[in-house]
Amino acid sequence: MYLIFRCDCGRVLYAKQGVATRKCVCGKTLKVKQRRIFKKVATREDASLAVQQMQDEIYGNTDFQRASEL
Ligand SMILES: [Zn+2]
Repeated sequence: MYLIFRCDCGRVLYAKQGVATRKCVCGKTLKVKQRRIFKKVATREDASLAVQQMQDEIYGNTDFQRASEL
């Protein structure tokens, strides 16, 4: 199981369930248990897809289409 959550900088991250901390690219180390979990998914592929979808929603990349949606 993978958990989807956000850093204070706004980036969306995922971490494998049971992992205590996750370092964001902004340099901040996040305690996974203290974050609000947006979503739980089963696989790493689903996790990276969920992160991408959330980033798209947040940053409004509406003109960006994935090959799978064409
Ligand atoms: Zn960050």
